[in-house]
Amino acid sequence: MLVRVIVIGNNVAGTTVAKGMRDADSRVEIDIYSEEDFPYYPRPRLIHYLEGTVTEKDLPFYPMDWYQKNQLGLHLGHRVERIDRHEMSVLVHGAWEPYDKLVLATGSSAYVPLFTGLPKAGVFTLKTLADARMIKNRASRSKHIIVIGGGLLGLETGRALCNAFPELHITILESGEHLLMRQLDHEGADMLQTWIRRTGAEVLVKADTKEVFGEGDVAKGVLLKDGNRIEGDMIVISAGTRPNVQLAKEAGLKVNRGIVVDGSLRTSDPDIFALGDAAEFNGQVWAMIPPALDEAKVAALRILNMESPDYNGTILSNTLKVLGFDLTSIGMVRPAHEPPEQGVEEIRAVSPDGSVYKKFVIKDGKMIGAILLGTKREVVKVTKLIKEQTPIDDIKDRLGDPLFAFS
Ligand SMILES: Cc1cc2nc3c(=O)[nH]c(=O)nc-3n(C[C@H](O)[C@H](O)[C@H](O)COP(=O)(O)OP(=O)(O)OC[C@H]3O[C@@H](n4cnc5c(N)ncnc54)[C@H](O)[C@@H]3O)c2cc1C
Repeated sequence: MLVRVIVIGNNVAGTTVAKGMRDADSRVEIDIYSEEDFPYYPRPRLIHYLEGTVTEKDLPFYPMDWYQKNQLGLHLGHRVERIDRHEMSVLVHGAWEPYDKLVLATGSSAYVPLFTGLPKAGVFTLKTLADARMIKNRASRSKHIIVIGGGLLGLETGRALCNAFPELHITILESGEHLLMRQLDHEGADMLQTWIRRTGAEVLVKADTKEVFGEGDVAKGVLLKDGNRIEGDMIVISAGTRPNVQLAKEAGLKVNRGIVVDGSLRTSDPDIFALGDAAEFNGQVWAMIPPALDEAKVAALRILNMESPDYNGTILSNTLKVLGFDLTSIGMVRPAHEPPEQGVEEIRAVSPDGSVYKKFVIKDGKMIGAILLGTKREVVKVTKLIKEQTPIDDIKDRLGDPLFAFS
């Protein structure tokens, strides 16, 4: 019988797996160690916090007494320094804590490219509440913010700050050929770019940052590789994340980009599991919430030696507001910079007024992915087709018609 499980990390992966274990077993001792000093909050809420529509008190997903009621030992502000696999214990706050099973839900950190001139005051990344507090404070005193990175998070951060501080001017710099390189193709991105420019924000693509320049150690703008200088009094770098794998690496676990796990979410050590942004399954590091939730369901039972089907990947379906516009990306959507896979067909439909853009990805007579921009109406039906792998031969020819409606 298991006596004690230690979970490292208290965001969506760590908390959900702890809840899953508690739901399945009322006796096992569960301790969660978290470097952050705030109980679990969904990180998308940080965008609303920046925007001013949510306060700090609204951030936590569960009230503090939820942890007590569920007998989850929550240790905030406790960074785990080391894992001793031989002794089956972790070093935290100078003491060795024993475990029977260990869960690495250590997540990811914001990636900061090697720009010349860093570090400088006035340059931020957004990952934690602590980051959001600093960004908000600085934005309230700024006139021109430069966002480096035209991905989802960069666009959302820019939008939130513009809404909160309407006087703020914003420039978004994307080094790729267009915005949202992971979600959109050229055509969809062109439409989005036009919409964004109408909101007053400036968008520069193929804008490769070389240097962050400043006065002394305070940032005053960026210099691009093409020689263009953009002045600004605040910079947010939104250039993706990297899995937190240091602990796992030092403990000698198998690590590629993330901590390598199998369908049980087990690492190369049978007593250690990993999930969420920190984990790599089938060569993929997801870095999104839905896979963390799917993984937690499986891991919770497997940690307790209970039956569960293997984790087998996640069909992503995300509807997001990008600067106020609905964007849904479902399943396999080829990033614009990757060549099309053999046997895969892409069908596009654009409404005559340019307000709606749809792209459907088809393989072997079935839909495997879709992008819906400017509409939410068909999300449920398209998601169902993709998840259930329904043959679409009867509708395929009509998908390119912007007026076609799924029945
Ligand atoms: C602003 C923002 C908006 C987002 N919006 C979306 C969205 O709309 N949809 C979506 O799917 N995803 C979104 N994401 C991504 C999503 O939040 C992540 O995929 C998710 O948080 C991953 O959860 P996780 O628990 O694996 O890791 P993380 O959220 O990274 O949490 C890991 C935790 O472990 C702690 N930790 C690490 N090492 C240690 C240690 N040694 N000791 C103790 N504690 C440790 C960290 O401090 C951290 O608190 C967003 C992210 C951000 C920042």
